[in-house]
Amino acid sequence: MNTIEQMQLKLQELEERSNQRTLPALIHEGRNVVAGGRRMLNLSSNDYLGLASDRKLREEFLGGLSADSFLPTSSSSRLLTGNFTIYEELECTLARLFKTEAALTFNSGYHANTGILPAVSDAQTLILADKLVHASLIDGIRLSSAHCIRYRHNDVQQLARLIAENHAHYRQIIIVTESIFSMDGDAADLATLVQLKQTYHNVLLYVDEAHAFGVRGAQGLGCAEEAGCIQDIDFLVGTFGKAAASAGAYIACRSTVKEYLVNRMRTFIFTTALPPLNVAWTLFIVQRLSTLQKQRKHLEHISRMLRESLTEKGHACPSTSHIVPMIVGNSADTLLRAKELQQHGFYALPVRPPTVPEGTSRIRFSLTAEIKEEEIRELIRLIV
Ligand SMILES: *Cc1c(COP(=O)(O)O)cnc(C)c1O
Repeated sequence: MNTIEQMQLKLQELEERSNQRTLPALIHEGRNVVAGGRRMLNLSSNDYLGLASDRKLREEFLGGLSADSFLPTSSSSRLLTGNFTIYEELECTLARLFKTEAALTFNSGYHANTGILPAVSDAQTLILADKLVHASLIDGIRLSSAHCIRYRHNDVQQLARLIAENHAHYRQIIIVTESIFSMDGDAADLATLVQLKQTYHNVLLYVDEAHAFGVRGAQGLGCAEEAGCIQDIDFLVGTFGKAAASAGAYIACRSTVKEYLVNRMRTFIFTTALPPLNVAWTLFIVQRLSTLQKQRKHLEHISRMLRESLTEKGHACPSTSHIVPMIVGNSADTLLRAKELQQHGFYALPVRPPTVPEGTSRIRFSLTAEIKEEEIRELIRLIV
């Protein structure tokens, strides 16, 4: 069998198990999407604060631009000629907001997670990662020369045991977790993780706030702000691609960590910097994040409504956030449920293996502040 035939066979297998993926043809209309000729409310967006669909905001940003500031490319890595001043402005603003010594930005969350861990770890490093961390973190671990053990999801007792058993045998241990988890929508107990790491001199903490940046905390800085432990996290990472309605990512950290990454992080060094235009838009949004408390409150309210109704109707719902999974089980049934919802005007998507474990295929509702209470009520009526 040649390579192409092997690919065809693998694709066929995926299709038979209802796990084949295709690129959807979509038209975006603000908070709605049009697919297959049907207009549906988008319940699968990461635009958690509704900023990406806010036309007024874009108009305001455009109003401040000229041909001189409309810079669609950096033409270089930041270490060569791609370091425009807008980058430094964004990083200073982030460091000021987080009250950390420094901040560094990256082209995406994927670049951040695949670049930081390989840069800061070596063969004398042990990475202890939550079983459910995002694929980008797994890839970062794979690219590193560290040893890695995955601990049971949010099981701090097992984590504590692993640290106790291993800390003397390694130069350093890095705990790796998300704050709000992508697929279950539940959260890590950051305060406890900080407490745990502080009992050892060689344990560091890496937290990915992809789903929490913009959404949690009084200023929208994430779960670490909410828990009051920003300064206790060694690698506090987040993306601008979700609630911040832009592209790119950040780390808030000590100056030494920043300087080290600039020297060692391959996904930072060997890539063309994001367009200054994009960075200007990110800065424009970041400067407004603290004013969006009303959106955060509303998002929390409708998320709670949906979670509580799912639980009431007997759906085990692990979520404590705006990411609310409805676990169906096998992939074929999940596809059918998603189709049904779509026929009623709700664009909700199925999540299947390998993104989630076999047998836990689910509809994943990803709510945004633009969804109305009445729409959630209607969704609830449909589900039950
Ligand atoms: C989306 C996501 C990323 C990737 O961020 P991008 O900016 O989209 O590359 C990383 N980690 C988690 C947990 C995510 O959900």
